[in-house]
Amino acid sequence: MSDLDRYVEALFDDDADVPEGMGRVWAPELHRSVMARLRAGSGPRTRTVHEYVSGIHKTPGTYRSGRRTESRNDREVMEATDHWVERWVEGTDSELAVRILGHGVEAATRRYDRGRAAAWYALWRRYKTGRPLRKHRGFHTFMEGGVDDCPDCVRDMDRLAGGEFDRAAAALLDAGGPAADWPEQAVKLVAWVTEQRHPSFRLFAQRAADRVWYIDLFRASVVVFDGRSVAASPVPFTLSPASDVDFVADATRCDQQTVAFSGKHNYRAAQRYGRHVLLMEGTYYTSRGQAEMNYSVWLSPPTAEEAAGLVEDFAASLPRSFRRVPIWSDPRRGSVMRKYSGEFAVGVWGSSWATGLQGARLDREFAGEQEAITALEAQELDWLKAGKVLTNLYLRMPEPKPSQNDTNGSH
Ligand SMILES: [Zn+2]
Repeated sequence: MSDLDRYVEALFDDDADVPEGMGRVWAPELHRSVMARLRAGSGPRTRTVHEYVSGIHKTPGTYRSGRRTESRNDREVMEATDHWVERWVEGTDSELAVRILGHGVEAATRRYDRGRAAAWYALWRRYKTGRPLRKHRGFHTFMEGGVDDCPDCVRDMDRLAGGEFDRAAAALLDAGGPAADWPEQAVKLVAWVTEQRHPSFRLFAQRAADRVWYIDLFRASVVVFDGRSVAASPVPFTLSPASDVDFVADATRCDQQTVAFSGKHNYRAAQRYGRHVLLMEGTYYTSRGQAEMNYSVWLSPPTAEEAAGLVEDFAASLPRSFRRVPIWSDPRRGSVMRKYSGEFAVGVWGSSWATGLQGARLDREFAGEQEAITALEAQELDWLKAGKVLTNLYLRMPEPKPSQNDTNGSH
């Protein structure tokens, strides 16, 4: 029996526990098989539908920086919920009903399915117990599928049902204007209403081409806004790959770099190897005491010239709070240290390499700064070709070099 078959068997066996990790192995065949058996059976099969939509509404993605990415099987959740609502009868286990409807409402709202979102929301509120929330809870906004029964969400669901968001999006499109000048919220609204997409992380803008590039909410795709609509990326992209080997296979050096910091820790950076461009962004998290990479994405246009243009656009459209720093080190702000998987962070400081995390220490010494840079560039390329990935950047002022008679120079 295949893995997928085992999930299907467990879903339809009232005495079996459904194994963990269905979201990880989910495939269209699993969905087809589950729906066929649901349709062939009788009754709403509340337990089965509940286990299924709970298992697939989140799909754990790849790991790179320790942050999890996820994509959601919205259409499949909606199809299963549809099936359940059609066969559902009064007296169904209301706790499971609330959970099924909750997943359905989130998916339908995110996909801008006005009819289903409003109808399922009304049912969900009817069966939900406990007082309504006074304040919106959770990380996601209403249009991103973060729907609860706070006053804002109740009002937004009325607006959704009544077509208010359609009218707001139409008004924004009528007003027009260069893509790069649109407020983020306006782009998000138009993308949601017209394309059911969720541009989330703004990568860069291209003034001449009148385009703004984004990564979507669940870090699943790159999308481009041109002032009228949001469409799939015009160039091949790879989000958070497990390895960068394929992108540097033919490289003999890094051809172009840009590094910018906001404050001491938030960064944006680009590196180009031939026609492949790696874009990264990191945000400082107080709870973890350091910046962590939010995303990394490779863009691979057909030519190195086009790739070089993307890096220039990236550098020219950094958010206002970001300041470009020299690629390797800034005398006043410190060494720009790069962390590769399985290695200590390393940067250049004068004629030395600075290594370590909390306090960068100087270790290897070279004849001069250029020699230190050349050696580090070669080291980086070796690591990339060996399958290591760049996972973070730090701006650190190295500690003074231990003096000759400091025998306790451990690091
Ligand atoms: Zn809310």
